[in-house]
Amino acid sequence: MRATTRLGIMGGTFDPLHLGHLVTAEEALVQFNLDRVVFMPAGRPARKTDEDVTPAEHRYLMTVIGTAANPDFEVSRMEIDRPGVTYTVDTLNALRDVHGPHAELFFITGADAVWDIVGWKDAERFSGLATFIAATRPGYDLDAARNVHAEELARIDIHFIEVPALAISSTDIRRRVAERRPIRYLVPEAVAAYIQKYRLYREARQT
Ligand code: ATP
Ligand code: MG
Repeated sequence: MRATTRLGIMGGTFDPLHLGHLVTAEEALVQFNLDRVVFMPAGRPARKTDEDVTPAEHRYLMTVIGTAANPDFEVSRMEIDRPGVTYTVDTLNALRDVHGPHAELFFITGADAVWDIVGWKDAERFSGLATFIAATRPGYDLDAARNVHAEELARIDIHFIEVPALAISSTDIRRRVAERRPIRYLVPEAVAAYIQKYRLYREARQT
């Protein structure tokens, strides 16, 4: 047995969970030899407060049923049970407290989202807390990002992984449902059934 646990954390709104999230988590699990990946649905996401976000319990349950078949995936209620706006740095500190020094934390995110999370103003607060694994979507210009975000890169430990052919987004899924277009093969089957059962996303939103 290894002395330390390598814990992946996949944060997100998961409104809804889709195959892009699952492929990214699986790729991170294998490439970084993680013991497990914990999906962490956000309570009130810091960057989405103005938007209309589906109630946390629906997003949590879709994440549970969509990850249930994978023995290396689990879902945490930590953020949805915490009142107020969610900040990733607080979550990582809380996980540090829970798991102690024997866990190594790997925060998995999309490359586009990582710079919103680790803004140059607070990159310092993340340093030493976790390793970042950022998935690049098709068309992402890594060299340009390295230039623009040089300050953050100097402070945080970040690795980029390529997740092929995954232009899937929750925004597109919601829009498809509102327009009565198919979402089959974009989300897990159980998630598609859940969306239909509770009639989620049937009205078009701003975002
Ligand atoms: P929305 O369109 O509502 O913003 P989303 O598809 O980006 O939703 P989130 O729940 O915001 O999904 O994303 C959770 C995390 O997964 C973020 O770090 C995001 O960058 C990443 N992510 C989302 N879609 C993909 C994808 N297709 N491939 C790789 N990473 C993704
Ligand atoms: Mg997003």
